[in-house]
Amino acid sequence: MREKQKGKGLIRAILLVLAIWGIVYWSNKTLHSPMFEKNPPKITLPNTLYWNLQSPLTIPIEDDSSLKEITAYLSDGTHQVEVLKQNFLKKSDHFEAKIDAPKLGLDLKNGILKLTVSAIDNSKWNFFKGNQARKQAIITIDETKPEVFPLISSYGITKGGAGLAIFKAADKNLEKLTIETNFGKEFKPTPFYKKGYYAVLLAWPITEKRFSAKIVATDKAGNKTRSRLSFFLKNKKYRESTITAKDSFINGKITDLAEDRPEQTKDLTPAQKLDFINATYRDENNAVIKKIATKVDQNVLENFSLQPFYPLKNGKVVASYGDHRYYKYHDKVISEAYHLGIDLASTRRADILSTNPGVVVFANYNGIYGNNLIIYHGLGLYSLFGHCSQINVQKGDIVKAWDVVAQTGATGLALGDHLHFSILIQGIFVRPAEWMDSKWMQTNITDVIEGAKKMIDK
Ligand SMILES: [Zn+2]
Repeated sequence: MREKQKGKGLIRAILLVLAIWGIVYWSNKTLHSPMFEKNPPKITLPNTLYWNLQSPLTIPIEDDSSLKEITAYLSDGTHQVEVLKQNFLKKSDHFEAKIDAPKLGLDLKNGILKLTVSAIDNSKWNFFKGNQARKQAIITIDETKPEVFPLISSYGITKGGAGLAIFKAADKNLEKLTIETNFGKEFKPTPFYKKGYYAVLLAWPITEKRFSAKIVATDKAGNKTRSRLSFFLKNKKYRESTITAKDSFINGKITDLAEDRPEQTKDLTPAQKLDFINATYRDENNAVIKKIATKVDQNVLENFSLQPFYPLKNGKVVASYGDHRYYKYHDKVISEAYHLGIDLASTRRADILSTNPGVVVFANYNGIYGNNLIIYHGLGLYSLFGHCSQINVQKGDIVKAWDVVAQTGATGLALGDHLHFSILIQGIFVRPAEWMDSKWMQTNITDVIEGAKKMIDK
C-alpha cells in the first residue's frame, strides 16, 4: 500500500517537472517569450576608468527581458558605500545608471576606487529568481586639469597663409591634444624636441574671413584645458579675375577632361561641361589631395630646417595663388574657382626640383591636376606639383634635397607647358610665396624652432 503511494507520488513529481519544463520550452521556443530567458543583463563598464568626480559616471545596462533591480557600490579598499539602488516598477529593458561622487564615507586620498555594479532581470529563470550580472571596475581619480601653455609662435599669420606655434602640454593621463579653430578644422600637433612639448603648423584658409586658434587638452577623466594661441592677423586681398571661355577651350581641354567622367558629362551643354570640370571635378580632385595631405606623423620632431622651395629654375610666375577666377561664356558667368597654387613656367619639359627632402605620398594622374606629385616634408607640410609631363619617383620613395622629381607639362587643366605648385598644411592649401621666401621662412619657422629649443633647454 505505502509502496504504491510512494510510486504514484514520484510519477506525479516527474510529470510536474516535465510539464513545467514543457511550458518553459514551449514559451521560449514557440512564443519567443523572454519570460524564461537565460541571459543576464549586460552591464557596459570597462575594467579600468578615470574619473574627475565632477560629472557622473554613466553606465548603460540592457536586458533581453526587463530589468528588476540595479545596485552599485564604491569601495576605497576599507570602506564600502552604496551609491545606487534602483528598483523598476515599469518594464524597462535598458537603463543608464548615473553615479555621482559620494560626499561622505570614502577615503579618496589614495586616488583609487573600486566600483561594483549588479543587475537582476525579471526573467523567471533560476527558479524565478532571475538572471544576475555583476561587473567591477578600478577607477583612477584624476581631478587635475592638463597643464598647457604657449611657448613661442610666428609673430603673425596672413589670410591664406601659415604660422608655427610651439607649446607645452602635460598631464598624467592625457587623452587628446588638438588645436581648435574658428572654422571647424582641428590641427594635430607633433611631439617636439623634449617630452611634453609640441609644435604645430597652422593655416588660415583663403576662404575664411577670420582666424583664431586654441590649444585644447583633454585627459582621460574628462578634465579640459583651453589656451588661446595669439597671432597678429594680417588680412590680405586676393585678386579677382574674369576669364572668357572660348569654344576652342571647351571643345579642347574641357572635353578631353570630361572623357574621364563620360556618364556625368555626356548630356551637358558646353557651359555645364565647363562648370562640371572646373567645380565638381576640381572638388573631387582636391578631395583626393586633401585626404592624402591631411596626415601628420607623430615622430618626435628634433629639427625642422627647410630650404625655401625653388621648384623651377628661372621659373616665371604666370599665375598667382589665391586668384578668384570667374569664367564667362557668352557674357554670362557660368563657373568660379580659387587658384590654390602658383603657376611657374620656363621651358617645355623643364626639370622640377624638390628643394627639400621628403617622402613621396602621391604620384598619379589626378584629373585637372594631370600627372600629380605630392611630397611630405614633416610637421604636416606637403608640396604639390601639377600638370607634369612625367614623374620620376613613385609613392613611398624618399626624396633628397634638390632631386629632380618630375618634368613640367600640360596634363590636366593646363593650356601651355607650366608647373602648378602648391603647399598644403594638414590638408589646407596655403600661400606658396611664404615657403619660397627665405626671409619669411627664417623669421616664421627657423627662428621660432631655434627660440623654442633655447627656452626648453634653459
Ligand atoms: Zn595652376
